[in-house]
Amino acid sequence: MTGITHHIPDSLLIAYAAGTLPKPFALVVAAHVSLCDECRARLAAHEAAGGAIIEQSAPETISESLRDRVLDALDNPFDMPAPHPRQGVYPGPVMEALKGRPPKWKRIGMGNRQCIIDHGAEGSVRLLWIAPGQAVPDHGHNGLELTLVLQGAFEDETGHFGPGDLEIADADLEHTPIAAEGAPCICLAATDAALKFNSFLPRVLQPLFRI
Ligand code: ZN
Ligand code: ZN
Repeated sequence: MTGITHHIPDSLLIAYAAGTLPKPFALVVAAHVSLCDECRARLAAHEAAGGAIIEQSAPETISESLRDRVLDALDNPFDMPAPHPRQGVYPGPVMEALKGRPPKWKRIGMGNRQCIIDHGAEGSVRLLWIAPGQAVPDHGHNGLELTLVLQGAFEDETGHFGPGDLEIADADLEHTPIAAEGAPCICLAATDAALKFNSFLPRVLQPLFRI
């Protein structure tokens, strides 16, 4: 997909490569990576670098299961189950999470809809369907929020987000996303339960880089 202007920062790609990202965020990262050549290339570089660091690390600094999992994945990159194909605007990882079925939309007022994909201790991830010109409804903003546009576009105080673009918001950002006119805006949105962005990233990076 071309025309993507809002990408995944390195800190999130590194956490994703290390397998330490909470599930809701990992799905958004996987969906963006499946659409974006640039982030796919950067992820491959981080996976290679992560493997080198893990191989050189003393075993006690990294849990054995994580070490084995990462090294296995690097040794057998093709030893994965066949991914679900993209369907319409829904990337393969989203179809995987939906078990190959189309989303079941529930009305949430103002002509908008949502489909909750996963909701648990690590946070939640859902699809949002926002009618053209409508404001994005309250979707929980306690900690970190990742929003990936799959169709249409939205705008807020920080910029314009079209198909493939990822917005990262934390509790400090007060924003009012409004769907653009034209096609309804369909987004994949993930939030964590209560963690704060600023403490979360160092925490997930610590086991890998010992910072
Ligand atoms: Zn990207
Ligand atoms: Zn928000």
